Amino acid sequence: GGSPMQTVLSAPGVNDGKVVSFTLDAATDEKDTVAGLIRSIIATSSPAQRTAFHVFHINTVVDLFSAWRRTLPDVRPYYAVKCNPDPALDPGRAGRAGRRAVLALGVGVGGIPPGANRSNVYANPCKAEPHLEYAAEAGVALATYDTESEVAKVARCHPRCELLLRLKGPDGGTTGGDLMNKYGAHAHEVSPLLRAAQRAGVAVAGVSFHVGSPVSRVDVYRGATNSARAAFDAAVALGMPPMRVLDIGGGFRAGAAFDEAAAVINDALADVFGDLLPCVEVIAEPGRYFAETAFTLAARVIGKRVRGEARECWIDDGLYGSLNNVLMDHKVPRPRPLAGACPGEKTYASTVFGPTCDSRDLVVTGYQLPEMCVGDWLVFDNMGAYSTGAGSKFNGFDISEMKIYVAYSS
Ligand code: PLP
Repeated sequence: GGSPMQTVLSAPGVNDGKVVSFTLDAATDEKDTVAGLIRSIIATSSPAQRTAFHVFHINTVVDLFSAWRRTLPDVRPYYAVKCNPDPALDPGRAGRAGRRAVLALGVGVGGIPPGANRSNVYANPCKAEPHLEYAAEAGVALATYDTESEVAKVARCHPRCELLLRLKGPDGGTTGGDLMNKYGAHAHEVSPLLRAAQRAGVAVAGVSFHVGSPVSRVDVYRGATNSARAAFDAAVALGMPPMRVLDIGGGFRAGAAFDEAAAVINDALADVFGDLLPCVEVIAEPGRYFAETAFTLAARVIGKRVRGEARECWIDDGLYGSLNNVLMDHKVPRPRPLAGACPGEKTYASTVFGPTCDSRDLVVTGYQLPEMCVGDWLVFDNMGAYSTGAGSKFNGFDISEMKIYVAYSS
């Protein structure tokens, strides 16, 4: 029901880059809208184009940005490109439609853009020299560090870059990437690292932390904020210019978890940084918050085996492609047939394999699905975080990167 939704699809590399326009009936259920969109895309593509692809829901990102502004009004988000480097989400490289839409949000970028732009943070604390030189050329002038060797490299390759001292935060009880051992200065390392920058003549603009991805105990933001304040005070004690940037990292998840994290952060900022806030810019590096729910994967069934009551099928994306988030991000995939489930339809304990000749390329097992046949499609929701960006070309299978569609209604 409702009014028709005008949807514009731009598909780089598909349909010869033409923008294709569809009008869909606005469905009452978001999932139906997505399924309708996917069916339209399949119906209008040539048989050769009918391989796994992602749908990017730009409306979702717009809504998430509004929620961010409402909930964390004093914190400016810099999108963490690492989470999903797809041009659709990266205004630095996006096609025109994507760039306009994402820039319109006012989101900074956590990666390196081709043009000079001060609203970027190079947030990998350990950078290769050629990459620092590239950052200098590209005008990226803010980068994190947590070792003395990094100070020396920055002084050599990009001396005008300002630094954020990356602090070790408390353990965020994270289920995904736990960076606690890899990055961040301990409390006793803060003053020596500040002095190293002072000696080298490299400015330290502020501090950063990243409490884990995703964070499961939101109170860690308070402990990390306390550590950040101690570093601000240490800089003053060393006679350095007052710091003016506080980067609270990522780890946010859309939904109730975001509201809980925001409440902790807002309180901690008021309590711990209240006296400095007018002079301090607070930024964050959210990745999955913006990316996770904005992408849906459609994968095609390319093979099938029946063994008694058991069903097995192969699809054309897997753990070495977009679904590597099963391995790297503890993703639990819940595929649903594009055709939808008919009431009373018989289901089977099914195994779904990815396409590579590797027995670990197994997407789900013992999973209830109706009878799937070659040419049917499975839909995977919430596929935007740490998926395509970390996939590989193992065994000759390309990542379905060029088949991203940008969808928005007007
Ligand atoms: N910032 C840094 C330095 C990171 O390493 C990461 C990812 O782990 C992020 C931000 C983004 O994290 P998330 O996607 O959980 O927001």
